[in-house]
Amino acid sequence: MECKTASGLLDVYLDGELDRSDARALEAHVDSCADCAAALAAADELRRALREGALRHLAPDALCERIGAAQAAAEAATPGTPPPTAASPSPNVVAFAPRPRRAVPAWLGIAAACLLSFGAGALWMHHDAGTSATADASAQFERDLFASHWRALAATSPVDVISSDHHTVKPWFAGKIALSPVVQDFATQGFTLVGGRIDYVGGERVAVLVYRHGAHWIDVYVLPQAAPIAHAQARGYAADAITVGGQQAVMVTDMDAGERAQLAGLLERLQ
Ligand SMILES: [Zn+2]
Repeated sequence: MECKTASGLLDVYLDGELDRSDARALEAHVDSCADCAAALAAADELRRALREGALRHLAPDALCERIGAAQAAAEAATPGTPPPTAASPSPNVVAFAPRPRRAVPAWLGIAAACLLSFGAGALWMHHDAGTSATADASAQFERDLFASHWRALAATSPVDVISSDHHTVKPWFAGKIALSPVVQDFATQGFTLVGGRIDYVGGERVAVLVYRHGAHWIDVYVLPQAAPIAHAQARGYAADAITVGGQQAVMVTDMDAGERAQLAGLLERLQ
């Protein structure tokens, strides 16, 4: 892959929308190209900054007071205009209640101008007043996780290294990722180690152990820190925070709760 192709794919890759063979080709290029590695890091940093709302600022008190005064004056000048119905959650937050376009009261125009003057308009669409950055990060992690699992299921092969031998899988990770997971096959207990891959979840490249149980595929994402979710479900698939021999991990699968608990128990007891 060349730099020109790679740079055009970075955002698609971060959104988890690149198919697996293209993602692998891009990763191979990024691993060997400092420019594209820097571009990927910058794009990821921007994505995190937007997600964490670092660009969102509250209006200063003086400005809010001026707006309040202007609002009162505007209402006095136009009898019959309804007062703002959305109560401000704090004195620093300007009430912003969307109304039909043709009936925009004067106070709303002023409030909207205040928001736009802070360049925060776009972020208000993204952030409800009560939504914390933590919740956004958890939601992003959850989306990445299920997208990764479904992308792998749709691929020709859900693994990059195919082996039921942990002596092959563990060293394969060791050369590619900082955190090399504990790897064990549980074929005799009904959970066959199929192999491993590396995927991009929650802003990190993480090791994924792939198991099979009957018709079910199980992805175990070994994480550098605790998962931001304890449990999540989507379209019949479940994600559960677990530990793999003391390492933090998340298991994603369509197995039932009993089967999930059984594999989670086996993984937790790994040394
Ligand atoms: Zn490059």
